[in-house]
This record gives sequence, C-alpha cells and structure tokens, in this order.
Amino acid sequence: MSDLHDVVVIGAGPAGLAAALYCGRALMRTLVLEKLVVGGQLVEAYDVDNYLGFDEGILGPDLVEKMKKHTERFGAKILSEGVEDITADGPVKRVVTDAGGHTAPIVIVASGASHRKIGVPGEDRLAGAGVSYCATCDGAFFRGKRLVMVGGGDAAMTEGMFLTRYASEIKLIHRRQGLRAQVVHVNALRSQGNVEFVLDTVVREVLGDEKVEGVAIENVQTGERRRLDCDGVFVCIGHDPNTEFLKTLLPAYAGDVIPTDMNMETDVKGLYAVGDVRKGSYRQVATATADGVVAAMHAERRIETLRKAIGAV
Ligand code: NAP
Repeated sequence: MSDLHDVVVIGAGPAGLAAALYCGRALMRTLVLEKLVVGGQLVEAYDVDNYLGFDEGILGPDLVEKMKKHTERFGAKILSEGVEDITADGPVKRVVTDAGGHTAPIVIVASGASHRKIGVPGEDRLAGAGVSYCATCDGAFFRGKRLVMVGGGDAAMTEGMFLTRYASEIKLIHRRQGLRAQVVHVNALRSQGNVEFVLDTVVREVLGDEKVEGVAIENVQTGERRRLDCDGVFVCIGHDPNTEFLKTLLPAYAGDVIPTDMNMETDVKGLYAVGDVRKGSYRQVATATADGVVAAMHAERRIETLRKAIGAV
C-alpha cells in the first residue's frame, strides 16, 4: 500500500500539533496536513495570557513556533496540503488532498474553524481593503482611523480592546441588546473613552469603491437605517468548523461540529475529532491540546491491532 502512515493528522493548530507530538513520541509514523498556516487561529492571538506555564504571557506566533519545533523533534512530518475528502476501505482510511492522497488506519481531524462572515454586499469585495477578521494581524494599519467592530462575544471585546491602541474611535455594532461576552471584557471595553456600543443593530452593507468608506446599518427594533462613516470594519462574529471534507465518511457532520466519545473518537473507529471541530469544545488552547493528547493516547492503544489487520507490521 503506497504512502501508508500510522496516523494522518488534519490541521496543525494546537490540537493537531499536540496529537502529532504524542503520536510521534509513541513511534507512530505521523503525517500532519495543513492547508493554510501552521498554528491555526493561535497565529492571530496577540497575547496568550491563559496557557499554563507562560506566567508572563506569550505572543501567539511565538507559542506556535515552539509547538511546531516540539512536534517535529519527535518525528512528525508536516506537509502543506488541503484535504478534500476521506474515504474508508475496512480499517484503512484514505485522505484525499489537493496534492494526491495518503492512507492510514488512524485519522485525527484537527482542522479548526474559519472566520464567520456577515454575508452582506461589499464584505468580500473590500476584504483586505478595510474589511478584516483579525485585529492582531491588521490593527496596526488603522492608526488614527475610525473603526467599526461587529460582534458581541469575547472575541469582539478583546479584539476591540486591542484596537483601541490604534483607532481614533470604535463603534461596536451588535445585533441585540444582550452581549454574549464575559462582563469583565465588556466593562473593560466600555470604559475606554473612544468606544461606543451601537446595540440592536446590524450591518446591511459595507460601503466604498476601492477601500472601506463606511457601513450601512439598521436598527432591528425601529427599522431605521443610516450610514456610519469609517475606515475599517473588523468582523468578530465567531467561527464555523472546517469539516466539509467529511462529506463521505460522516456526511451528517460535514460543515458542522463533530460529536465524539470521551476518547475523542467519532462514530467511525480510528477517526478522531479534536479542538474546535469537536462538539462541546471549550475552544481554548489548553483544551485543544488536551483533546489532541487524549486522541493520540487512545490511538496508540489501537494501532497494533490495526497494523495487524491491514498487514502493515
Ligand atoms: P461567540 O462567543 O460565538 O460570539 C459571537 C458573537 O457574534 C455573538 O455576540 C453573536 O451574536 C454574534 N454573531 C454571530 N453571528 C452573527 C451574524 N451573522 N451577524 C451578526 N452578529 C453575529 O464567538 P467568539 O467571540 O469568537 O468567541 C468564541 C469562543 O472563544 C467563546 O467561547 C469565547 O468565550 C472564547 N474566547 C475567549 C476569550 C478570552 O477569554 N480571552 C477571547 C476570545 C474568545 P449573539 O450573541 O446574538 O448570538
């Protein structure tokens, strides 16, 4: 069987890298596939202040670099390939990618989640020209500028807080009165002199020719529409899981979060889901890495039996 590995890990964020580290240490032939950048959403995190052991905090990209080096030290190989499908022939799974494919009895899905879009006219056209999904990545381009932040969760509050150091003013637009974010984050942002909360309000259009010049907003209670002039729009309204490639193996969950048992194993034996793609995930770096470790340790218990079953010993 060509290109047979013990484990293929899909996604090189904290969950995938932790799984690959443990698989590598268990002497399993481990391949990690990453479509975009190693590190996943962690690359966008400015200051990671809640990962145990880093008592003074650490920059997201620095933590990613450490995780990557640590994983590679134990033999895992990381390839830049996008996964399109997974099929199964008995215990062997074939991971079909944009560069071909790989087979393994164990597949660990750690493909994380992508930024959710508002889905209004102008958003895609002006992405990169004032529309951004990552304050840490793009905030510095907006020194002294007027910004709109969309969202009412913790990400909108913390990313908004980060933007206050650059922006001249920020209007936070949220679709209802109640904010989903933790009170501590809401209060921190509210206490900034240059932030105004515009509640019960949605963005109907992002305006501008070559770059963002404003947004058309609507109050959902009164129906009143108006234009807000601004230079940038940051969208922080959550993420959708990257699981479309499960269309063949687990069609009920393609594009959705995946339920697992306590070992992170899905309904398909040898197929695991860890991190943000797992149903019930707390979506923290610590819980993502823990998911990866649990899946790898369970896979290690399975691998000898599976190797024998497919004649790969
Ligand atoms: P989230 O908690 O799911 O919040 C998403 C926000 O966007 C909600 O306020 C939601 O409104 C709004 N929203 C969703 N779809 C929308 C749409 N189509 N149009 C307009 N608004 C929309 O997501 P998140 O803020 O990215 O946080 C994700 C997880 O990470 C959470 O568990 C959060 O606690 C955690 N996190 C923690 C920290 C921290 O502790 N430092 C920082 C960032 C994130 P509704 O409320 O009306 O649904």
